[in-house]
Amino acid sequence: MNRGAKRVYIHTWGCQMNEHKSEGIAGVLARAGYRLVGSPESADLVIFNTCMVREKPEEKVYSEAGVIRMLKENNPDLFLGIGGCVAQALGEKLFRRNGTIDFVFGSSNIADLPRLIEQARRVRQNGRRQAQPVMALDKIPEHIEDLPFLRASLFQAKVTITEGCSNFCSFCIVPYTTGLLRSRLPGEILAEVSTLAQRGYQEVQLLGQNVDSYGNDLDDPQINFANLLRALTQLPIPRVRFTSSNPQDITPGVIEVLGEANNICEHVHMAVQSGSDRVLQAMRRGHSRDYFLDLVARIKAAVPQGNITTDIIVGFPGESERDFEQTVELLRQARFGGAYIFKYSPRPGTISYYKYQDDVPAEEKQRRLAHLLELQKRITAEENSKRVGQAVEALIEGPARGGPGLVCGKTRDNKSIVLAGPADWQGKLVRARVTGADIGGLYGEALGEQEELLRPSYAAQTAGEAR
Ligand code: SF4
Repeated sequence: MNRGAKRVYIHTWGCQMNEHKSEGIAGVLARAGYRLVGSPESADLVIFNTCMVREKPEEKVYSEAGVIRMLKENNPDLFLGIGGCVAQALGEKLFRRNGTIDFVFGSSNIADLPRLIEQARRVRQNGRRQAQPVMALDKIPEHIEDLPFLRASLFQAKVTITEGCSNFCSFCIVPYTTGLLRSRLPGEILAEVSTLAQRGYQEVQLLGQNVDSYGNDLDDPQINFANLLRALTQLPIPRVRFTSSNPQDITPGVIEVLGEANNICEHVHMAVQSGSDRVLQAMRRGHSRDYFLDLVARIKAAVPQGNITTDIIVGFPGESERDFEQTVELLRQARFGGAYIFKYSPRPGTISYYKYQDDVPAEEKQRRLAHLLELQKRITAEENSKRVGQAVEALIEGPARGGPGLVCGKTRDNKSIVLAGPADWQGKLVRARVTGADIGGLYGEALGEQEELLRPSYAAQTAGEAR
């Protein structure tokens, strides 16, 4: 490897948790002298941070590795490392099956990267790749790995509060690839968020596969998600978000904190997955249809300006037309602000893969998917249009597509908003009035004088108190 020009390109698959892991990878490599680049063509090292949740993850790794193989023909000093869930699950098989891969590292071995890269370099020099697989694949540890995160944004920060999940929904690979639930101690989380607030971050996003189960693995009953949120309301950080919620684990305490005027953003992403109790049972979800609809009603009553979004799987094994109709009806009743809707596909290693036959035909899955997408689009547009005329607070994320002089951001309830404003509003909180809406989000105009609207509304109220 050319030691004078250490450049790394990181390709991330999957959810926000994996994106945050990539920030950890970037931080470890920055300490080892690497700088991030935006394409594999200009890199000396390429890292794939993989995910098993989507379809055919192994094939995707091999197909992307094919691109790197071609780049290696022009740049023999290029190295390829594979991390994330696919690496954790397949380990040596991945290394043996694809000669382009130089090393493989598990979900808990990110801090080992500099050593692995060095080892891969020596193995290549000695021409002993097959004899000496370069891998670090520790078992998932009891504690969450502490990493020197190099964050992609200077105003929005991801903060892990839990890893893993102990719920074992029948379709889900997470408990097998990331292990059982592990929670960070509240003191560590509060210290990290305090530091981010001091550095000028406007928003933190608390991450966990199931944030509402926070603390369930710890002995102290006072350590729970509601109390963590309450403690975070005392910090001078303007916005706190969280994802994802699991309906069976959301407590009345969490709904109560959400309903108070504080820095916790009014958005709950909680997966319902199906509207049929029969299917929910086969999925091993811990909630029923009625429980879920009651939960939606309780959240909407406590947080009228809130936004509830969801995930749905269509075509789960055994899902009949009647089961599907119940999902359609649930969508109509719950009126989600948005929904990620997927076709079921069996994942080796999960309970449903071994227990059930994937018996809903592909065309039928596609029909059900299209039907729900169409319905949800209509509901999303209608829910967005209810915001027209209201005043909202937007965190400006950057220039908007659609012309110069336009910026886009996110409201507290996580809707996209586009408004006229200068590029240097990026990273600032702006008050706006909603003037229009469609399926994609909101359109607005900034409110008041500029100095006034650039003042972070919540931070301005609380910064004095917290000192
Ligand atoms: S609660 Fe979510 S992460 Fe946990 S097993 Fe179920 S689907 Fe997977």
